[in-house]
Parts: sequence; C-alpha cells; structure tokens
Amino acid sequence: MQVAQVIVDVPTRQTNSPFSYAIPDNLADQIQPGMRVQVPFGNRKITGFVVGISDKSSFEGKLKPISDLIDLYPVINPELLDLAAWMADQTYSFKISCLQTMLPGGMRTKNKKKLIATSQQICDQYPAIFHGQRVVDYDRQNFDNQSLSTILKLQKNGDISVEYDLTNHSKPIMLKAYQGNLDDQQIADALKTVRKNAVGQIKLLNLLKSHSKDAFLVSKWESMGVTSSTLKGAEKKGWVTATLKRHVRNPFLRPVKPSQPFKLHPDQQKAVESVNHAISSKKDQVFLLEGVTGSGKTEVYLQSIAHALEMGRTALMLVPEITLTPQIVGRIRSRFGNQVAMLHSAMSNGERYDEWQRINRGKAKVVVGVRSAVFAPLKNIGLIIMDEEHDSSYKQADNPRYQTRDVAKWRAAYNHCPVVLGSATPSLESRARAMKGVYTLLSLPHRINRHALPHVSIVDMKTEMAKHQSALSTQLADAIQDRLDKHEQIILLLNRRGYSAFLMCRDCGYVPRCPNCDISLTMHKDTHTLNCHYCGHKEPIPTMCPKCHSKRIRFYGMGSQQLEEQVKNMFPTARVLRMDVDTTRKKGSHEAIIDKFGAHKADILLGTQMIAKGLDFPEVTLVGVLNADSALQFPDFRSSERTFELLTQVSGRSGRADKTGEVIIQTFNPDHYAIRLAQTQDYEKFYATEMRVRHEGKYPPYYYTVKLTGNSPSENQTASEMFGIMNFLKKNLSPKAIILGPTPKTITRINNRYYYQIIIKYRKEPTLKATLDDVLVQSQKNQRQGIQIAIDNEPLDFM
Ligand code: ADP
Ligand code: ZN
Ligand code: ZN
Repeated sequence: MQVAQVIVDVPTRQTNSPFSYAIPDNLADQIQPGMRVQVPFGNRKITGFVVGISDKSSFEGKLKPISDLIDLYPVINPELLDLAAWMADQTYSFKISCLQTMLPGGMRTKNKKKLIATSQQICDQYPAIFHGQRVVDYDRQNFDNQSLSTILKLQKNGDISVEYDLTNHSKPIMLKAYQGNLDDQQIADALKTVRKNAVGQIKLLNLLKSHSKDAFLVSKWESMGVTSSTLKGAEKKGWVTATLKRHVRNPFLRPVKPSQPFKLHPDQQKAVESVNHAISSKKDQVFLLEGVTGSGKTEVYLQSIAHALEMGRTALMLVPEITLTPQIVGRIRSRFGNQVAMLHSAMSNGERYDEWQRINRGKAKVVVGVRSAVFAPLKNIGLIIMDEEHDSSYKQADNPRYQTRDVAKWRAAYNHCPVVLGSATPSLESRARAMKGVYTLLSLPHRINRHALPHVSIVDMKTEMAKHQSALSTQLADAIQDRLDKHEQIILLLNRRGYSAFLMCRDCGYVPRCPNCDISLTMHKDTHTLNCHYCGHKEPIPTMCPKCHSKRIRFYGMGSQQLEEQVKNMFPTARVLRMDVDTTRKKGSHEAIIDKFGAHKADILLGTQMIAKGLDFPEVTLVGVLNADSALQFPDFRSSERTFELLTQVSGRSGRADKTGEVIIQTFNPDHYAIRLAQTQDYEKFYATEMRVRHEGKYPPYYYTVKLTGNSPSENQTASEMFGIMNFLKKNLSPKAIILGPTPKTITRINNRYYYQIIIKYRKEPTLKATLDDVLVQSQKNQRQGIQIAIDNEPLDFM
C-alpha cells in the first residue's frame, strides 16, 4: 500500500508540513502529486493537495485513508509544487495559501462549504444561518465569531452536515453540434422523399452536400437558416448525428490583424541580440531594459518572444494590473495569434479557467497577464518579461505577500531562461542591481519617432488657490480651451492616492468618520452615501450637521466625479469621458472608453492612475496633472519614487504622433526634487538624488526590510503583544539590526481592530529567518486571545 503526503487546507504553521494518508486501492493507480483530494481531518472532511507519494513501510500505526479525489489530472505541476514550498518559506506564509494562489479563481474551492441542516427544527431554530441550505465562506474574516462557534457546535452535535461546495466554473461547457451522415446519392434520394413545403429540411439537405465533414454548433446551423427542431427531426431520420463539442470561452473581444516584425533600430538590435543569446544558451540572466515610453521596448519583447518560440520554448509576459490594456494584448496577438493566452482579473472565472486549461495542456505558448499569471502552468519557459517592472501592483498585498519579480527569477532559474525587466523608471532596487552588475543593463535612449519629449511646465497651486477656488489653474484651463479650439485631445489625471471627497461642517469643523475605523468617510454621489473604504461601512449623506445642526455641511477635496462636473461646467461643449474604478466595473467598459477616446469621439479623458500608462493616443497633445504631490504627503519612503514614476509615465502620453505635446503639472510643492526632475524626465539624476536619500535614511536598496503587523480587538493587548515581540527580536538579532517600533499604524483602528507595527532594517542577519519563524509559532499559540500577526518581507511601504 502507498501513502500520500497531503498539504491540508488548514492554515496553521503545523500544516506547512504534509500529513500522511493511506491511498485506498481504488485510487492507487490514479493519484499523482499535484492533484487535490478530500481527506478526513478531525471530525471534518477537508481538501488538500497531494505533494508526494511514498511506500507505507516507513510509517507506523494506522493511517486514515484519503476519502476522495477531486482532480483527474494534476493541477499543480512539479515545478509549481517546488515553487510553492519556496514561496511559503520566503514570504512567511502557509503552503496551502501558496498552492491556492497558483490556481485560477474558479478552481479555488478553498473554504466554500455548504451547510445542510439535518432537520426542519434546526432551520427554524437558526433562521439567520439557514434558508434551506446555505453556502458559507468559512474564512474567519467573512464570518463573525458568534455564528462560527454556533456552526461548530451544530456540526459536533450532528445537527448539520457540511459539504464542500465544488460547484465552480471549472466544469467545461458542452454544446451540441450536428454533423451530416449522408453521401451525395443518399441526399438526392432524401430530397425526393421530403414534401415541398418542408423548407427547412430541403435547406438542410442542400447544406449537407457542401458541408459533409463539418460538425456545426446549433447556433451556426441557425445562422444558416436551419432551426434546431429541423435538426432534431433530421437526427431521428438518421440524416445527421449529434455530438458534444467543448465550448472554450474566449476572453478576446475582437479579432486582430496579423502584423510583421519591424526592422530593428541599432539599440533595439543590441538588446534583442543579448536577450536572444541568453535564450539560446539557456542562461537565467536578468536584464534591465531601460527606455522611455515610445523607445521601442515592446518591439524588443515581441522579437525575443518570437525567438523563444523558434527554439521550441514558451514565453511569459507580465504587465501591471492597470496597463493590461487591449492595446498591448492586441499587439502580442497580432504577432502570435492563437498561441496567446491572457490571464487577468477582469476576466470571468470561466474565461480564466479555460485560458488556464489551454496553457496547462500546452495549447497556448505565450501567456500575457497580470501578477498572478506568474504562476501560469507553462512548461519549458524560454523567456519571462516583466513590463513596467517598478509597478506596485507586482507585490501582492495579502497572504502570500510575494513579489512577482522574485517569483519570476525563481522560475527563470528553474527553466534556465532569461528575465527581462522593462521600465522607463526602474525601481531603485533593480537599477542598483544593474549598477552592481547583478543584472545586465540594456538601454533604449531614444524615442523611435525621434520626437522631442513634451514640454512640461509646473504650476504652483499655492498662489493659484489664493486667486480662485477652482481645481484647474488658469494656465491649465487656457491650455484646455486652446486644444478644444484646435480639435485636439486632452488627458486630465487626478492622482487619487489618499485623496478623496469628504464632508465637513463649515461652522464647527465636524467631519463624519467611520464608527469602526480611524478614517473619515468618503462621499459617493452615485449611491448617495458616505462610505468607509476600509470596512465597507455605509451611511446616508446628512443634510444637517449632527453636532451643531448647521446646514452648512459641504464636501471638500476632489474625486473624479466632482472633477468631471467641474470640467463640464467650465467647458460646456467639450465631450468628456471619465475612467476610474466606478466607470470600469462592467466587463468591456474599459475597452469601450478607450475605443471611444481613440476614435476621437470625446475631447477630454479624465481619470485616476488607470489612464497614466500604456495607452497610445496620437491626438493627445495636452496632459494635465491636477494634484501631482498627493502621494508626497504620505509618510512613506517610496513616495518620491512613486511621484516621479507617475509624472514620467503620464508625460509619455502627450504628443506621440506628429504633434509635440505639452504637460502641465499642478502642485503645492513646486520645488520638490521628484517634481523638478520629472519635469526634465531626468531619471539618471533622480536615481542619484533618491539613492542619497535612501542611504541617509537607511532604506532599501541599502537595507533589507521586514514589516511585522499585529492586530487585536484591544489596543492595550496589541501594544503589549508587539512590545513582547520587539524584546524577543532584540534578544535574538544582532545589535546591527535596526528595530523600529512598535508604533500604531497610520490608521490605527480598522473594523474595530487595533493595528501596530514593527519595522526591521538589516544588511545581514543570519538568525532573522529562524527568529521570525519562532515569532509566528509563538503568536499562533496566542491566537486564542484574538491576536493576529502578519509578516511582510520587503514591504512596499512602512505605513
Ligand atoms: P515602448 O514599448 O517603449 O513604449 P514601442 O515598442 O511601443 O515602445 O514602440 C513605440 C512605437 O514605435 C510603436 O508604435 C511601435 O510600433 C513603433 N516601433 C517600434 N520599433 C520600431 C522599429 N524598429 N521600426 C519602426 N517602428 C517601430
Ligand atoms: Zn457643525
Ligand atoms: Zn470603516
């Protein structure tokens, strides 16, 4: 008998090591590592991933048998099994969450469970839980402790049964197709027997002549004028046979025209040669491809992907969440056609599942996708590309808190292939590595069309605001009018990070705040509510100040909705489009806005960060940035870098065709180096300046960092737990390690839990890993008191 090692779906430190289960005889020749199974655990049945199979001999005592097999083939291949183990260690997270993260959304059955009451009495007694049966998300976050304990009690008493809800989108969709059975002679005979008024049958028989080999879906027959009832009748007569055809959901909305590779410019040529050489010689070299927007980076990617395919290998191209625009996907598909698969979060679960299947089966050789696509089950990868490598969406904010760049490098080492990190404004970490020679620097110093960079001017809003209350400075407003007169296009960017509309009483200064969190509520005009962006709390907009009863309660700040209103008021004849989270929620709405603006059916596109990158509109000659420095106000060591990046990116949007562009940056900090240097797009100088700042402040890339966050329902408890951890760290780390805190987080209370953090900065700490593992083991023991500890290795910010 054989034994399976299973990582079970119980997120604890202990279950990071696999549990052993006996493989029952009926499953013996089916089970393989990488498949999911159901196993008994305590008195429950849970899911798990088989990570290994071995002989029984080395086990003593009786093992419980596996209850059931969920998959018919491995869903995690051997490479990804190894990667999950490495990632769990690297990110201080649970192996089970790493494995789950690798699967497309629709396959993560995770903690969805169906509760089934065994009697009507139970349903009546717990109406809040049961409406007949109920599918619950067993995640503690989504389930208040009260009903969770009730459910556990009911389960123990046998009053309910708990089943896994495996209904997901991974079931293939099967559609009926009909194919002809008759040869020409038989068709002629059949035509003689049908009545003249049986128009459908006659039509079908004639079509069968020319389509004797084709199995068409019902919808196709219908488009050719044959109804489904005619087809059913024909099936009875034996004229046609019905077969089931697997329907593959296609995420691509439009077909694209094929395109040919360009003849490369000398800098591009050099870059492509270096990368292709690494592909051919199977070297896991990391390249940093530096070049401003329009310098031809994408063409370099495309020609290197082509080389990887020629070598019989596959390619993975990652792009940030918000730049995965139809434009870039279109360019890749125009070169590589149906070999391209796409993975991103705006696709439906079904589409993502089908794309994932095409990749897993080896049908798709090129994958383009966002962060999670780094886990695409491609085999024999020959090239990994990360476009806009500096982008913050590459770091996952929740468990497992991985950095995509690190995962990409791991996979490159495994597959013996190069990684290309591309950017106009590389992260300081990557640039520093390139300077040290750890990465190979490739640069594209010129724009392909040799157009001058746009003219960038800075407007000091301190003096502007003294003159009038408008969000648009006189200079920007005049420039907008000028472009409207010339029938050219305009982009207005609202840097929304931490910047939104809130309500304030003009008489007493009262600001409505969330009852559960330390944050003011944000105004949402479309739903007429004040919302908390942290816990989801909503309340109606008051018409009178609850504190002093004044009616002069108004909103301040500026959201994109308010900006849209203001712009429409100032330029009543302009056609304005808005792009932000609210207007792009529906599938295809992002494309629709881009198409409309691209076709010049609107004059002004305004929106948040979403519009800053990757878009290519030749008729845009003016870009206005309304509040360039809203990120600078954050107590965050990366705020200058983020500001510089954003301004550089957005400036690249202006004047891409034959007209020189103009950029107007409105700011309250006109002398800040991030803004000054963005004006001249001087990355080199920015890098030098910012590296000095980082050096002085002992920040990355000079120091490695770890952030520990603790939270609990009591502020005292959180603080004392974190002080305990701080002392433990001091005892176990070298005196050279810098331990900051514990301090309350910028927003201390979220959803009635109190958050404190400790930051560790270090250069070399051989005992750090073991010490932090100890902290986690210890904290798990204390979890009963409701304390949760999270570790973020190389956090994006210290907030
Ligand atoms: P980036 O990715 O750096 O923004 P692109 O690869 O998109 O740059 O190139 C900018 C523009 O120049 C695109 O319209 C592209 O089609 C075109 N282009 C790129 N390389 C060449 C080339 N070698 N010859 C002619 N046109 C090119
Ligand atoms: Zn008031
Ligand atoms: Zn809240």
